[in-house]
Amino acid sequence: GRIGFAVVGLGRLALEEILPAFSRCKKARLAALVSGTPSKLKSVADHYGVPESARYNYDNFEEIVRNPDVQVVYIVLPNSMHLDFTRRAAKAGKHVLTEKPMAVSAKECEEMIAACEQAGRLLMVAYRMQYEPYNRELLRLARSGELGRLRTITAQNSQTEGRPQQWRMKRALAGGGALPDIGLYCLNAARFLTGEEPIEVQGSVYSSPGDPRFQEVEEVCAFQLRFPSGITAQGISSYNAHNSRRIRLDFENGWAELDPAFSYAGQQMKICRKVSDKAEDIAMRKLEEKSQFATEMDHMADCVASNRQPHTGGPEGLQDQKLMETIYESAKAGRTIKLQPREGLDVTR
Ligand code: NAD
Repeated sequence: GRIGFAVVGLGRLALEEILPAFSRCKKARLAALVSGTPSKLKSVADHYGVPESARYNYDNFEEIVRNPDVQVVYIVLPNSMHLDFTRRAAKAGKHVLTEKPMAVSAKECEEMIAACEQAGRLLMVAYRMQYEPYNRELLRLARSGELGRLRTITAQNSQTEGRPQQWRMKRALAGGGALPDIGLYCLNAARFLTGEEPIEVQGSVYSSPGDPRFQEVEEVCAFQLRFPSGITAQGISSYNAHNSRRIRLDFENGWAELDPAFSYAGQQMKICRKVSDKAEDIAMRKLEEKSQFATEMDHMADCVASNRQPHTGGPEGLQDQKLMETIYESAKAGRTIKLQPREGLDVTR
C-alpha cells in the first residue's frame, strides 16, 4: 500500500501545491491533516476526504501516535516551527519531511537530526529542485564532462514580497530574509550540481532604508562561493524585484541555462555547444515535466518503504544552514571567509 502522509500547516504552499500534488503521487497518499484553524481544517479535510479521526490541531497533535495510517509528517509551517514539530512527530514514531529552509539555525538543524536519529525515524528536507527533471539534467551535464569542465555558476532567485506583517519579514519566525527563503535555491543548486563543498564564502546584504518590509530581514543577499576544484558560484536573491529564477552553468566548451529554473513548473533549458573557435550551436532541450511535489513525496515514501536515507536528508539541510550563517558572517565582517575542505554529499544516486 501507499505510505500515509500527515500535512501540518494549511498555508499557501500546502493548499496550492502540496495537497493537489497527492493526486499525482504513485507511492504517497494524504492520510491526515493538522491545522490551527478549525474552519479551514474542516473544509480542506472534507474536500480531500480526510476522515474526522485523522484531523488534528497543534494542541492534540500527539494523538497522531495512535493513527497507524500516518507514517510521515510533512511540516509546512513557518521556518521557526520546523524544529518543534520534528521533535513531536519523531516522538510520536513518525518519519519527518520538512519544508525548506530546514530551520532557523544550524543548532536547530542538529537538534532535528538528533531527534529523528534517537527515534529511529527518517528525516528529509523538501528540496524539490533535486527531484525535478531539468535540474537533474543540469546535474548530469555538470558531472558528465559533455561540455568540458564546469567553471562558473550564476544563479538568481527573486520575487516581490509585499506584506510587511507576514512571518517572512519577522527574523524570529523566518531566520532571515531573501537568503533562506529563495536565495537558498541558488546555494543548494551550487552544492548539488558541483557535488563539492565551498572553501571560500563571501556575502553581502542590503535593505532599502525605511522600507517597512525590511526592518528585521534583508531585502537582497548576494554571495560568492569558491569550490575546491576551482569552480566559482555566484548567487543573488531579492525580495523586491519581479520573479526571476534562473541558473546558468558555464563550461569550457559551452553553457547550459535554465530560465526559469526554480519555478514550480515551466522550466526551459537552453544549451550552447562550442563547435569550433568561430561557431557554436545553441538549442533548446525539451524534457517531460513532472510534478516536483509528487516526485519529492514519492521519494520520501520510497525511502520509508525500503528503509533508505532520503538523498536530501538532514545533513544536506544542516550544511546549507551553516553556509547561510557563513554568508551572513561574511557580510557583517566585510571579508571572505575560508572554510576547511570537506567532502561533498553524494546526490547523484
Ligand atoms: P504561509 O504563510 O502561506 O502558511 C503558513 C501556515 O502556517 C499557515 O497556515 C499559518 O496559519 C500557519 N501558522 C502557524 N503558526 C503560525 C505563526 N506563528 N505565524 C504564521 N503562520 C503560522 O507560508 P507558506 O508559504 O505556505 O510556507 C510554509 C513553509 O513552506 C515555509 O517553511 C516555507 O519556507 C516553505 N515553502 C516552500 C516552498 C517550496 O517551493 N518548497 C514554497 C513556499 C514555501
